[in-house]
Amino acid sequence: MKSTSSGGAVFVRNRLNRPCTGLPPLPSLLVALIPLERFEALLLPNGDELVIEFPSNSWRLPFNLALPLPDAFHRSRTAQTFVFSLPNIVVKVYDDVKPYAHERAFYEKWSSALGSAVPTVHAHGRRIDDSKPFLVFSNEGGRITELTEEERAVVRRSVLDVIHEEGWHHHDLAARNVLRKPSGGLCLIDFGMASKCERQGCDGFWE
Ligand SMILES: [Zn+2]
Repeated sequence: MKSTSSGGAVFVRNRLNRPCTGLPPLPSLLVALIPLERFEALLLPNGDELVIEFPSNSWRLPFNLALPLPDAFHRSRTAQTFVFSLPNIVVKVYDDVKPYAHERAFYEKWSSALGSAVPTVHAHGRRIDDSKPFLVFSNEGGRITELTEEERAVVRRSVLDVIHEEGWHHHDLAARNVLRKPSGGLCLIDFGMASKCERQGCDGFWE
C-alpha cells in the first residue's frame, strides 16, 4: 500500500487501487457520522478486504474504511468475529453460507420487532479473497459467562416470546450468546441456527 496525506486524513490505496481512509488519522467524529454501509469496503489490519454490498441506487463514498486492531477476536466452528470499539461494531465473517443466510434472514424478519433486544445490522457483503460472506453488527457489549434465571426470563420476554409466537426458534441458546450492554440491558446474538421450525421442545432449551 502507498499512502498520501490530505486534509489531516490519510488515504491509502489498496490492492484494487481504491482509496481508503485510514484510522486513527480519520477523526472519530467523522466515522461516527458516516453510516458504515456508505463505504465501499472495510479493510482489516490483517489485509482482509470486506466489500460492502449495497443497493446500486444509493450514494457511496469512493473510499474504503481501514479498521484499527480489533479489541477482541473470537473463532467458532462457523465464523470469525472481530470486535471493535471505534467504530463500535462487530464484524462476523462466516466460513459457510448457511449460518450467514440464517442470520441475515432472521434480522431481516425480526430487527424492527425486536428493537434494542438484538444488535442492529449495519452492512453485509463478501470478503474479496475467498468470497466468504460477512455481516457488520452494532457492538452492544461484552459476553456473559453465566446467566441467572431472572436474566433468562428477560431474554425470554424481550426476544423468545416474540419470535416463538410466529414459530421461529433460536436453536443455540447459551450464556455466551447473550451480551450485557453498558446500560445494563441484555442483548441476544448469534442467530446462525435460527429458523422457522415446527419441532417441539427445541424452542426454549438453554445450553
Ligand atoms: Zn426448533
